[in-house]
Amino acid sequence: MMHYVIIGMGVAGFTAVESIRRRDPHGEIHLVSEEPEGYYSRPGLAYYLSDEITEKLLFPFTHKDIHTLGVTQHVARALCILPEIRRVELSGQMRLSYDRLLIATGAEARPLDIPGSEAEGVVKLDCLGDARAILRQARRTKQAVVVGGGITALELVEGLRARRVKVHYLLRGERYWNNVLDPIEARIIEKRLKEEGVQIHYHSELGEVIQKNGRVVGVRTKDGLKIDCELLAVAVGIQPRIELAVAAGIAVERGILVNEYLRTNLPDIFAAGDVAQVYDPASGKAMLDSLWGPAREQGAVAGLNMASSPEEFQPYSKKVPFNVTRLAGLTTTIIGTVGQGRDDDLLGIARGDSETWRQLPDVLAVQSDFEVNRVRLLLGERRLVGAVVMGDQKLSHPLQHLIRQGVDISPIHERLLQPGAPLAEIIIEYWLDYQQREGHAA
Ligand SMILES: Cc1cc2nc3c(=O)[nH]c(=O)nc-3n(C[C@H](O)[C@H](O)[C@H](O)COP(=O)(O)OP(=O)(O)OC[C@H]3O[C@@H](n4cnc5c(N)ncnc54)[C@H](O)[C@@H]3O)c2cc1C
Repeated sequence: MMHYVIIGMGVAGFTAVESIRRRDPHGEIHLVSEEPEGYYSRPGLAYYLSDEITEKLLFPFTHKDIHTLGVTQHVARALCILPEIRRVELSGQMRLSYDRLLIATGAEARPLDIPGSEAEGVVKLDCLGDARAILRQARRTKQAVVVGGGITALELVEGLRARRVKVHYLLRGERYWNNVLDPIEARIIEKRLKEEGVQIHYHSELGEVIQKNGRVVGVRTKDGLKIDCELLAVAVGIQPRIELAVAAGIAVERGILVNEYLRTNLPDIFAAGDVAQVYDPASGKAMLDSLWGPAREQGAVAGLNMASSPEEFQPYSKKVPFNVTRLAGLTTTIIGTVGQGRDDDLLGIARGDSETWRQLPDVLAVQSDFEVNRVRLLLGERRLVGAVVMGDQKLSHPLQHLIRQGVDISPIHERLLQPGAPLAEIIIEYWLDYQQREGHAA
């Protein structure tokens, strides 16, 4: 009988369990998670914070569902991996032996590196425990400061606004998320935030957290502005949790390096999800994502391979990353390579983000906009390499398909480049035509 150990009960770890079980009904599976809540929707935390869903809705499975998978759960922290003797040591003096091991430890928020950042009232949003702590503290908070960029910073801003907290949002540069969004897209988001009563401070860098009796009472920016606040929410980027891998001698760069079978450089040790740095065919480099979909797909392939012999291994092929998310209440789809340069508000990527998006495409950009509805296309000679769709989402699905499948768009290339071209019309018309040619239902 095989012994499988999985560290991390996020979507990658949990999907790996399902995948192993389908292939090997009798193997012994041990699932280690330091989070007592078990498996839940991490992206759903934003909606929990903004009071749009209850905590119960974060959990897609009951205890009974998990029990039927025949897995032994350990609420413990994995302390070290001993590859020579194939063992994992856990807190509480537990030890688990493995034939196959999966590291699915995800990523964590990068801490702020300024004086006072250890004070009570400095919060981040990684897990359910963090969301609960924010909600507890928001009850006695009148004014908060948010720093950082990307999706998580806005989720913190909006979660706090929904709890009637006055929010100051500090941006180091002159616009929001400036290596993914273009200036017009950023302005649309900022305008909406201001309409919600958020005070945005441009060119503002945090210098120090002011505290009293160990609690935050304010912040001071590097140019001397003092803002009183009882809460400071930080979203300056994430870092894959590679510490176990590093100590075990597993090859890492920014994340754990894996081959196309999601195997690390050590025998029978696999990695998947936010912690894994995976080869990206679009750029020819190994990239990080912090996206639910790829983490789930990687978990599925890793689990399958863990329960297979090497000659049966399935390759994982990284698809063009995309996210359909909400920015300041505006549904936004981001697909492929859309990069705009540097982002001073983020160290690395954020949650719901991808390194692939930040590649600077050497192609033409075309856009059309109408009030809050906007589409930007990154146009190669024969194919679209990226797109951002804001507001009206009727183009989201066709563009996901056209970009992810690398569909030849040379027949509409010239039309898309015409000044004032009706991009939406051209894309929809081509998409319907393409579907008909390919024999798909529209
Ligand atoms: C607020 C928020 C918003 C997000 N929004 C989006 C979005 O809009 N779209 C999108 O696609 N994705 C989004 N994401 C990202 C998405 O949730 C992640 O990509 C996904 O959860 C990664 O899954 P994972 O299994 O790799 O890691 P995780 O879900 O992070 O799970 C890893 C688990 O391992 C545990 N662990 C780590 N080290 C140890 C150890 N040593 N011992 C025991 N346990 C350990 C951790 O505590 C954690 O429970 C968001 C995430 C957050 C937090």
